[in-house]
Parts: sequence; structure tokens; C-alpha cells
Amino acid sequence: MIEHKHTDVAVVGAGAAGVGVGVALDTVDVDVTLIDRAGVGASFRQWPDEMRFITPSYPSNAFGLPDLNAIVPQTSPGIALNRQQPSGPEYARYLEAIVKHHELPVESDCEVRGVEYVAETDTDQESAVTADGGTTRSEQFFLETSEGTITSEFLVWAGGQFSTPRTDLIPGADCCLHNSTVASWVDHAAQSSTDQFLVVGGFESGIDAAVSLLELGCSVTVLDRGYP
Ligand SMILES: Cc1cc2nc3c(=O)[nH]c(=O)nc-3n(C[C@H](O)[C@H](O)[C@H](O)COP(=O)(O)OP(=O)(O)OC[C@H]3O[C@@H](n4cnc5c(N)ncnc54)[C@H](O)[C@@H]3O)c2cc1C
Repeated sequence: MIEHKHTDVAVVGAGAAGVGVGVALDTVDVDVTLIDRAGVGASFRQWPDEMRFITPSYPSNAFGLPDLNAIVPQTSPGIALNRQQPSGPEYARYLEAIVKHHELPVESDCEVRGVEYVAETDTDQESAVTADGGTTRSEQFFLETSEGTITSEFLVWAGGQFSTPRTDLIPGADCCLHNSTVASWVDHAAQSSTDQFLVVGGFESGIDAAVSLLELGCSVTVLDRGYP
């Protein structure tokens, strides 16, 4: 239980974006805390079993370009995991290893439920000069979380979309099955009363679902407003 904690920068979400920005700030000695309602790499651990990264994971050439799926320079999920197309849980392990190596503070199982920004004028306090010549800022973010209050001077929202699917995009969207709720396409197809599927959306998740279902012998049509 946190009850109350202060950090200079609060990063909400410990996925690829949150861990990446966390390391970048930590590297320049900024006090940063990652906050995640379900732990480091939670979205990746929730990927359907069959889902894989699209971009092959390996250092691109001999000139030091990082792995295209790396979130920190000098690292390679491809080499660390010995996989070109990591699964979700494998990529989550890569993120966890980075958090451990950099000793990044993470508040896990901590859901941010509300954010309030209190500006200097609201508190009627002047920025004060500290003993070391720096200044304290009275502006603060107040994060209401499931574990207590966290205050910060800066807030980075890296909550992603996968873990918060929108069911209000089109009328009837709630009748569809969202990719993030599927544990395994093999199990889903086996339990389904049909082998004919419509996939709405032809980007990474949609094409990944379509390929998984096609490989199981299902008939699949992908609908996309543009070109997949
Ligand atoms: C099939 C597929 C293949 C892909 N292939 C590639 C690829 O090859 N290369 C590539 O670069 N990208 C690829 N992507 C895209 C990549 O996976 C996403 O861009 C990336 O996961 C987004 O990361 P994120 O940190 O923004 O979000 P997430 O990884 O979803 O992290 C968000 C985190 O925020 C937490 N969170 C959310 N709300 C709250 C809250 N209120 N309080 C506390 N915590 C909260 C969640 O628990 C979660 O851990 C692929 C995606 C798919 C679907």
C-alpha cells in the first residue's frame, strides 16, 4: 500500500513506451516512477498465444543500429530472447529484464483512477529556492490510485490502447470479440460454432488474427476502411 508517494516524473504504464521513457529519464538522473495496474509488460502477457511481433527482431546491420523492436539502445530482444518474432510473454520478459537492470522503481498492481493538476495559482504558493540553489515547484499532479495518492511534477501517460479496448467506436461493437480478450485462437476456433469469421480492422491485430484463423482452416474476411 503506497498511501502517499512523491516522484518527480510519474509514468503511467509499464509497457514498451513506459519502460522506454523511464530508462531514458533515469539515464539522465531524473527521479522517475513507473505505475502499472497489472505489472511490467502486462499487455504483452495478455496477447493471444499465437500472436507474434511483425518486425523481425535483430540488430539491422554492422553499424550499431539497434534491433528495431528494442526500446533501449544497445539492447536486442532478438538476441536476448533468441527469437526473431517474439511472442507477447517473451517480449514482456525482455521489458522485465530492462527494468531489473536499470533498477527502475515500479508500482505494480496500482491502477491510476484519476488525475488532477493543481497549478501554482491554485495553491497560492511561490516557487521557493532550495538550499542547493534549485527551485521547488508548487505545481503538482495528484494521481488517485488504487493504492493511495502519488504526486508528481510531471506526468507521462503511456497507458496504451490494448488493455483498454473501446467498445463504443461503432454501434454494435460490443457484439464483437476484441482481440485483447482472446487467450488463444486455437481454443477459440475449437469452441466456436462456426468456422467463418469477419475480422474488422486490417492492421497488426486484425491480420494476426486472420492468419491464425486461416492456419486453422477457417474462412476469414478482413474488413478495413483503407488498405490493410
Ligand atoms: C500483432 C502485433 C504485432 C506487432 N508487432 C510489432 C513489431 O514488430 N514492432 C513494434 O515496434 N511494435 C509492434 N506492435 C505494436 C506494439 O506492440 C505496440 O505499439 C506497443 O505494445 C504499445 O506499447 P505501449 O507501451 O504504448 O502500450 P502497452 O504495452 O499496452 O502498455 C500500457 C500499460 O499501461 C497499463 N495501464 C493502462 N491504463 C492504466 C491505468 N489507468 N493505471 C495503471 N496502469 C495502466 C497497462 O496495464 C499496460 O501495462 C505489434 C502489435 C501487434 C498487435
